[in-house]
Amino acid sequence: MSDESISGRIALLNSHLSPMASEKEAALAAVPSDSPTIFDKIINKEIPSKVVYEDDKVLAFRDISPQAPTHILIIPKVKDGLTGLSKAEERHFEILGRLLYTAKLVAKQEGLDDGFRVVINDGPNGCQSVYHLHIHLLGGRQMNWPPG
Ligand code: AMP
Repeated sequence: MSDESISGRIALLNSHLSPMASEKEAALAAVPSDSPTIFDKIINKEIPSKVVYEDDKVLAFRDISPQAPTHILIIPKVKDGLTGLSKAEERHFEILGRLLYTAKLVAKQEGLDDGFRVVINDGPNGCQSVYHLHIHLLGGRQMNWPPG
């Protein structure tokens, strides 16, 4: 087998064995900004997503790269400067509470009766890759602590 073929196989194996590495790379490559993100396209139905909950303020849809049997993203339909949690202001109290309450509703809807986890990644150190505030709702398996 040629060297190229071997290194190709190793790269393929790595991509299967360590999806977290590629998530981290995507996060570190992301430039924090208030520009529109892929989530605006999802909100505007310009690209498809698997929506599990929607009201006038909030949208919840399945993560395209699930890290657990259930992995849902919950986002505000209007970003209003909330590129991430670190940008929260007092005017965001209502939407922040609504996002968290939606996580509870969706967890119930998804049958996560034995528990679940909510995660908000913020900034490069928090491994945030999309600069439109979102709550990750993860469930359907035993979680570990501490998180990576
Ligand atoms: P974060 O790394 O916390 O910024 O999370 C962003 C999440 O968005 C990642 O878990 C991605 O898998 C997810 N994601 C990116 N693009 C899409 C998409 N088109 N549909 C659903 N989820 C997406």
